This record gives sequence, C-alpha cells and structure tokens, in this order.
Amino acid sequence: MTHGNLSITSSPLKKVAVCDFVKPTPIGTTWGLGGTCVNVGCIPKKLLHQSALIGKYLDDAFGWNTPDKVTHDWNKMVEKIQEHIKSLNWRYRVRLKDEKVDFINAYASFLDSHNLKTVDKRNKERIITARHIVIAKGSCPRYPSIPLAKEYCITSDDIFSLPHSPGKTLCVGASYIALECAGFLKGLGLEVEVMVHYILLRGFDQQIAELIGKSMKEEGVKFYRGFVPIKIEKVEDGSASEEKPPTLKVTSKHQESGEIREDIYNTVLFAIGRDACTDEIAADKAGIVLNPLNGKVIVDEAERTNVKNIFGIGDVLDGKLELTPVGIQVGIQLSRRMYGGQDSLMDYNNVLKTVYAAIEYGSVGFSKEAAIEIFGADGIEIYHKHFTPLEYTLPKKGDNVGYAKLICIKSLNERVVGLHYFGPNAGEITQGFALGLKLNARKADFDNLEPAAEPEIKKFAQGVVFSKINVNGSDAHPLWKFLKSECPGTLGE
Ligand code: NAP
Repeated sequence: MTHGNLSITSSPLKKVAVCDFVKPTPIGTTWGLGGTCVNVGCIPKKLLHQSALIGKYLDDAFGWNTPDKVTHDWNKMVEKIQEHIKSLNWRYRVRLKDEKVDFINAYASFLDSHNLKTVDKRNKERIITARHIVIAKGSCPRYPSIPLAKEYCITSDDIFSLPHSPGKTLCVGASYIALECAGFLKGLGLEVEVMVHYILLRGFDQQIAELIGKSMKEEGVKFYRGFVPIKIEKVEDGSASEEKPPTLKVTSKHQESGEIREDIYNTVLFAIGRDACTDEIAADKAGIVLNPLNGKVIVDEAERTNVKNIFGIGDVLDGKLELTPVGIQVGIQLSRRMYGGQDSLMDYNNVLKTVYAAIEYGSVGFSKEAAIEIFGADGIEIYHKHFTPLEYTLPKKGDNVGYAKLICIKSLNERVVGLHYFGPNAGEITQGFALGLKLNARKADFDNLEPAAEPEIKKFAQGVVFSKINVNGSDAHPLWKFLKSECPGTLGE
C-alpha cells in the first residue's frame, strides 16, 4: 500500500501489486500516481523555485535588453507544471505495466497480516492476499485545531495546483515547507508573511537558519516570531472563474506576551508538520505496533515491523528521515534483501538535505549544535567562510551573502562530520560533497582539492581560507565516548 513510493516494486520474478489511492484534500485537491514528492512535493516545489529564480535572473540579466516591466502569470506556470506532473504519472503507470506490476487504484486496509481489503472510488471492494506487505503510505499535512482552518486554509498539498494566484499569503510554520513556499511566492512577486512558532528550521544549523531568515527578510518577507493563529474568518469569497483568491482575516496571538494581531490575507498556508495518517489502515487487525504518539510505523533496522511479513518504507516510519530520496533508497534496498540475495541495510548517516529557500542551503552530516552535543565542544573544530557568490556581484546583491562551514572531529585527524553551504545551487554543490563525507573525508582532503571553476566553490574547497570558529563548552556526549571505546572503526579511525 503506497502513496507513491514505488521503489519497492522493482522486485524481479515476483508477483507484485501496488495499491495507491489519493484522498482529496479538504478543499478538494487530488493528484495521480507517484506520491507526495512527484505530485505535491519536491518536483513542483523545485519547479516553482526555478520559476522564481528565473524572475530574479531577469532582474539581474546584465547585458540583456529586458523589458522594463516583466510580469508573471500564475496560471500559465501552474498549467506547465501540472502538464509535466501528468507526464510523470503516466510514465509510472507505463513502468508498472512493463514490469507486470498490478496497479490497484483503491484504498487498502488490513484484514489480518496477509489479507487486505481495497475500496475503489466507486466503493467496489476487493480482498487481496500477499505473502509480504510493505506499508509506504507517506504522510499528510497537519492542520491546527482552529475552527474553519480546513475549510478556508490550504497546505502544500494544494498550493501547486491552485487555480488562481495565492495573492497576499501567510505561511504558518518556519521549517522546510513554510520557508520554501514563502521563498518562491516572494520570488514570484507576492506579498508574503511567515508566522514562526519558536525558531527557524529546527534541527538545522541555527546560524545558517538565521542567515536564511535574514536573506528572506531582505527580499521583503515579513516574519512574526512567537505568534500563532487563533482565528480565521472569511471576509470575501474568491472566484475560480475570475481567478480571484478569497480574502481572509487572521487573528493571531503571541505565545508569551499574549499580544493580539489581526491581518488580512488572500491565502493562509499551514506548514506545521505532517502526520502519518495510519488511522484508517486498520494496522491493529494485522497486529502491527504503531507509535501511539504519532501513529507512525515502528520498524527495525531492516525496515521490518513487529509482524514478520510486514515492512515499512518512507515517511510513514517512526524515527526515520522524512525525505523522498531516502524512502526510495530504503525501498530499493528492501527489495534487494527480500528477493535479490543481498543483505545491506540503509545508511541513514550523511544524508543530504537541501532547503530551497530564496537562497538555497545544503547540508550533510551534523549541525554545529548536534556536533557539540555528540562530540563535545572541545572535540570539534569548525572552519567557516562568508563569501560573495560571483553571480551576486554585478547585480550588487550584497557582499558576503554566501556562507560555508565545515565541522571536523579534532581527534580523528579533522575528519569532516558536517558540511554546510548557503548560496546559489547549494543542492547540487552539496550533493557532490556528500560523497566525500561518506568516504570519511578529512579537512586536509578539502585543502588539497583542485580549485573548481567557480570561485566560491574554490573557497569552499580550499579550507585554508576558512577561519576557525571557537567553540567553548561541554563534555562529550556519552554516545561519542561509547563509539570511541566500544566500536573502534565505526567513526573511520
Ligand atoms: P516540520 O519540519 O515538522 O516543521 C514544522 C514547523 O511548524 C516548525 O517550524 C514548527 O515550529 C512549526 N509548528 C509546529 N506546530 C505549530 C503550530 N501549532 N503553530 C505554528 N507553527 C507550528 O514540518 P514541515 O516543514 O511541514 O515538513 C514536514 C517534513 O517534510 C519534514 O520532516 C521534512 O523532512 C520534509 N520535507 C523535506 C523537504 C526537502 O527535502 N527539501 C522539503 C519539504 C519537506 P517549531 O520548530 O518552532 O516548533
């Protein structure tokens, strides 16, 4: 049963069926085969980000005679993006057919550990029996418990196919999704505000999270820290035929001071986390243990649940990374273990993360905060560098906007355990360096790299020009001491 992670279907010689069924969002948005990433996640997100970047390139296009007034057409962009997504949906259908995978467009729930009941959109039921079952149900955006939030507001499930420009938008939340949506909407020329619960990008290097906030502020995004919406009211209806968004009044309250704000928006987008949505799959009938706090599926290191023939992959898993490329890799490895005679497990370390905010941020390995907690402040050395990306020089977008940081373990000959890059094309740049970290690269390896063509990458690579950050503080984390004493070799010594 899947919301789109099809990686597990590549199991040669076995009979495989995929159940995939999209339940419409509260405002009725629905999509095709391929799951969140393809339909309402990474793919449209990156294309909208790209559309916003193109607008900026036009502004910065030195030497080109561009018209004084360049306009953006939301509907034209959405049409193009949706065309592309439909072609991907079709490609998945064809691939499943080619690989003789039975595609069942119906919602599956457990009857017991080997039998599932599926119900299609005409309410037609079917019972299917399987030796092995893989839960890849993904997750769905969370709504707050504010009256009318589901009726009047949207989430990332809706934004990419909205039939009108969102107009003035409030993004609630300050992690990946909220900042990425705020970034591309601002880049498309809209008025955008962000309501920050407590901090920006929890779990990420906080120095860079603040740099992202600063750069977005400079682009004109307004941030309201500590506020949460408490009431949503409709002031005026929108009109799909006139491509007009509604008008909403949002009342919000500061969590500490109690200060009340009221403002008017056309769109309110909640990006306050995602839930596993396992409540309707009747996991209990199969005896599967879920985490009672979040409904997520608990698996061991081989992605097996407590029921020996039932596995899980992707965002539905408890305590794993909610990232599509990770879910896909987990599915591929699971199918190889099940049918390919291999036994390798997924390596969750050194996974690349990119935040496609107005300026991109890519990271691999530990944040400074996590590195201090695990290795102790005295155990690490941090090298960092502010730089001006070359493409920002002629358009005069400010000096030292870019930033790079390496976090090294002193006692392991400065093995690099965290790499952070904030600047244009961070996703692609960091992807290459992620391999270096997997291969236990040391600071000296970065110093010895041949300079790349781009000056900022050269600076990044040539760690010698970095200045050290002084880190003061705590003792090493027990985990670090344990790894050093009990598991020699695990840290690449
Ligand atoms: P998230 O990472 O779980 O963060 C939730 C955000 O909402 C946080 O900023 C949190 O603030 C805030 N928040 C929580 N409860 C709130 C409330 N009641 N009112 C207002 N704000 C509230 O959620 P997400 O951004 O929706 O992302 C979901 C998952 O998708 C993530 O795990 C991420 O890995 C994945 N994702 C990945 C990518 C990518 O790879 N580029 C892109 C998008 C999403 P505090 O932290 O201050 O409490």
